[in-house]
Amino acid sequence: MAIQFKPETLCVQAGWTPKKGEPRVLPIYQSTTFKYETSEQMARLFDLEDSGYFYTRLQNPTNDAVAAKIAALEGGVAAMLTSSGQAANFYAIFNICQAGDHFVCSSAIYGGTFNLFGVTMKKLGIEVTFVSPDASEEEISAAFRPNTKALFGETISNPSLEVLDIEKFARIAHSNGVPLIVDNTFPTPINCRPFKWGADIVVHSTTKYMDGHATSVGGCIVDSGNFDWDAHAEKFPGLCTPDESYHGLTYTKAFGKGAYITKATAQLMRDLGSIQSPQNSFLLNLGLETLHLRMPQHCNNAQKVAEYLSKNDKVAWVNYCGLPDNKYYALAQKYMPNGSCGVISFGLKGGRDVSIKFMDSLEFIAIVTHVADARSCVLHPASHTHRQLTDEQLMEAGVRPDLIRLSVGIENADDIIADIEQALG
Ligand SMILES: *Cc1c(COP(=O)(O)O)cnc(C)c1O
Repeated sequence: MAIQFKPETLCVQAGWTPKKGEPRVLPIYQSTTFKYETSEQMARLFDLEDSGYFYTRLQNPTNDAVAAKIAALEGGVAAMLTSSGQAANFYAIFNICQAGDHFVCSSAIYGGTFNLFGVTMKKLGIEVTFVSPDASEEEISAAFRPNTKALFGETISNPSLEVLDIEKFARIAHSNGVPLIVDNTFPTPINCRPFKWGADIVVHSTTKYMDGHATSVGGCIVDSGNFDWDAHAEKFPGLCTPDESYHGLTYTKAFGKGAYITKATAQLMRDLGSIQSPQNSFLLNLGLETLHLRMPQHCNNAQKVAEYLSKNDKVAWVNYCGLPDNKYYALAQKYMPNGSCGVISFGLKGGRDVSIKFMDSLEFIAIVTHVADARSCVLHPASHTHRQLTDEQLMEAGVRPDLIRLSVGIENADDIIADIEQALG
């Protein structure tokens, strides 16, 4: 491409560039398999000597076009779609960690990721140490061991809405010879591009703003191509020494900057198979075409709602990094000057029972287990996702009993505020 496209153009144009007579709109390649003329042609694909499609568990043209769009938006060299954000996070770590390895992770992360890393991956022999993202560089570095292979954090954590100091995390990761992996689900590349600040790998739950319409669960991993695996070859044998399941091919030698994503596709996706369906990636692509229009509307609406809530005397507290008195305001201004995301959390005076009454009184703002979709919605973790916990246990988990998570949609801000106001009444 001659023109260096800006994000708005990439949202609409990247990934699919049809040639003469081909469909203008990205087609859904609803096919498990692809045809070849000779047995030899097919054999070369299996040896990774030629690139081409043969089976949708490994690669599919619809999925690859959408992955290429997300890679372009993040400024990365390659990307892979997965069946969910959970699968993306699992593969991102498992691609460079094996039994006996360890990684360091911010404690301010999505609950599903916390379980995956702290409980399920432990059963595979991979250990994690959680650190406060606000701790000093010395404290976080102290969690590193000789077998540590990665550092992980969320740009804006779900649901605690803490903002990651990406440059600080990148410095710590690199001085310990490991990559920084950032879950960039909440800001999306429209509001933050972590590679610019030193992150090496970005993961997404595309289920959220990227899809944006609550139609499809999905995930994505993007590689910046910047991490020098060979410079730390002893830590990353999976990338830097021959893969016996591919006739002794070495990913960094054969694929250079494409090594990490090629290994994730050719080895992990081949063996574990958590692919995104082409139908879902088609829907994801429709969402991406308007991501640059929806994100500013989510952010403007959330800012207005947060300001309204912070002035209301029935509201005990409001957490939104766009409010100047927020602990993360300065970091949010640095990393996301055009807006952060549409998710706010707040508490009402009177606690848990009042929160429930408030939510039941909302008219169009719906109670759903979801965030980051075009429609405004709320969730009360103490009554829903964390309902088995006592108030004391909730506080230990960092979830206040009165916390309401409000995902502000792209409706008219005055209507959203009117619904909140009548429910507060
Ligand atoms: C939702 C979410 C996930 C998990 O994604 P799924 O698509 O639901 O599997 C991971 N990280 C963050 C930040 C999320 O919000």
